[in-house]
Amino acid sequence: MKARSERFKALLVERENELAGVHVRYLSEGQLPEGDVLVGVTYSSLNYKDGMAVTGTGKIVARYPHVPGVDFAGTVLDSGSDAFSPGDEVLLTGWGVGERHWGGFSQRARVSSDWLVHMPAGLDAKRAMTIGSAGLTAMLCVMTLEEAGITPASGPIVVTGAAGGVGSLAVVLLSELGYEVAAVTGRQSTHGFLRELGATQLLSREEMTLPPRPLESQRWAGGIDVVGGVMLARVLAQTKYGGAVAATGLAGDAMLTTSVMPFILRNVSLRGTESVTTPRPLREIAWSRLSETLPQKSYQQIAEIISLEQVEASARAILAGEIRGRVLVDPNL
Ligand code: NDP
Repeated sequence: MKARSERFKALLVERENELAGVHVRYLSEGQLPEGDVLVGVTYSSLNYKDGMAVTGTGKIVARYPHVPGVDFAGTVLDSGSDAFSPGDEVLLTGWGVGERHWGGFSQRARVSSDWLVHMPAGLDAKRAMTIGSAGLTAMLCVMTLEEAGITPASGPIVVTGAAGGVGSLAVVLLSELGYEVAAVTGRQSTHGFLRELGATQLLSREEMTLPPRPLESQRWAGGIDVVGGVMLARVLAQTKYGGAVAATGLAGDAMLTTSVMPFILRNVSLRGTESVTTPRPLREIAWSRLSETLPQKSYQQIAEIISLEQVEASARAILAGEIRGRVLVDPNL
């Protein structure tokens, strides 16, 4: 067997006079944080939080220097855990990796075995990272609506921030599961893309960020919201009697000002959904459903691949809401 070299490439964010400096550096395995499994990373992906970590925005990085990347998929190189052996294909999303612990924008990552998931049947590293945290979150939001009793027969589901990572995957999943999907986007240039993913109604960001009346015409059986703020308040005011809205993001605003009317007069429920510390049994169900539900063509439709050197520019773009679908990071390019 070929011996592996001690040195590998990683994207390091360093603090330089209060500003984040971003460099591709060669590191040695001894510099990696503690953990019982060493993984050779095949792909990582870019999420909104990575945009914050790379640009030093929003205080999500615990200490510097730091390797961002909240997701990765790859092959186990060394393991001190009975659950994983060298050669196993694995993936990781969440658990503070890329925030408090070094992440996946690197050719190698050392992590706790508690955070790893065996590669689900039907997926490989590239597909798993096309899905990534964004897709896991989208699937958990769909499951949140199902738990609330929403079915395709209940009526249309509105997805906000639809052309982004979570939004685009939510559109595909809902459409594949037989729901009618209304997509809210601020970018007219993404209308064709969203229709290809399965949206049948398109709504503008302007329309959906007009301050809502306490109750509006009942349009949606449910909603998946990544934007927050006025957009979420408007979705709630337009949700039908007995409907449910899964709130998972703050791409527009972390604050929510709403009236209680949708809750007390229409039995609408607002349900929080998060994917960072989702327990393993639920995670495994969600991954297996993702693998079963996503059609082959969606992997090509959604993903773009970049190198470590290109991450900084894409990080700025994701914070500016300019990324369409998902961006995969190949640390071996
Ligand atoms: P993306 O940047 O890929 O997508 C966000 C989308 O929101 C954009 O593409 C844009 O869609 C829309 N948007 C951006 N800015 C605004 C704005 N000011 N007003 C209205 N719409 C806006 O990010 P992700 O999909 O990766 O993440 C989306 C959100 O979900 C983030 O807030 C992220 O932190 C959160 N998240 C939460 C998780 C959890 O566990 N709770 C897990 C993963 C993500 P368009 O161009 O179509 O309008």
